[in-house]
Amino acid sequence: MSLETLFYAVFGWVIGVLINHAADVLPRHKTLNSAPVCPRCGMLRAPLAWSGVISYLSGYHICLGCGRPLPLRSVLVELATPLLFVGLLWRYGLSAELGLVSLYSAVLILVTITDLEHRLIQHAVMVPALLIALVGAFFSRNMTARQAVLGGAVGLLLLYLMYLLAIPVSRLMGRLAGRPSEEVPFGFGDVTLGTFIGLTTGLPGVLLALMITIVSAGLAAACIILVQLARRRYRPLATIPYGPFLALGGFIMMVYGPEILSWYLHRGP
Ligand SMILES: [Zn+2]
Repeated sequence: MSLETLFYAVFGWVIGVLINHAADVLPRHKTLNSAPVCPRCGMLRAPLAWSGVISYLSGYHICLGCGRPLPLRSVLVELATPLLFVGLLWRYGLSAELGLVSLYSAVLILVTITDLEHRLIQHAVMVPALLIALVGAFFSRNMTARQAVLGGAVGLLLLYLMYLLAIPVSRLMGRLAGRPSEEVPFGFGDVTLGTFIGLTTGLPGVLLALMITIVSAGLAAACIILVQLARRRYRPLATIPYGPFLALGGFIMMVYGPEILSWYLHRGP
């Protein structure tokens, strides 16, 4: 392993610790400016428990407040982020592009966690991310700034339409099923995330990113229904968060967009 790779893996681990910290404190305090706390009860964590990996290795993973272990998510993120970062380093080499794509990936990981755990995609995350992506649009090797800004506009428009449609559609489905539901499948956070993905994948990449989102969310929903049927506990209309699937489609098109688009546009009849 080269020194460069080792350095970027360690950097990825530090970013993983920061992502976990943001996922633990942002939904609770709305600011990053808080000491690391237990995501379950809010108790302050000992310094050896600031990192998920170190806390499990040192035995500090049990919270003194609620007696429960740190979520395994913190370990998973601290292992997955360095792996992802090393993959990005090998793809982009040390470059401005690498810095931007790494940062965008960290944002996608963070919103995936907060959406799964709290059904939240926070403006405190998305507003700075959108500003950086807008500036970053001028430094992309794979697309022009015009393509990026148009992608952002298309992402905003399409997700806003889905957001507007989601409420009447879920009411209608509820009435048809005879069980009115107040659960809204689509929040405004999804709109900001869609705009971010548009800015980072550009036009036409954003369209394929949304296609991957819809297909993967559909597959996941089908799997959930199958599992529920197998357990004989089918709950119709249980909505799933869309953030993780938007993040998945956005990440695939952000990194592999050029190859996928050239395959898609030049495939045989
Ligand atoms: Zn606790």
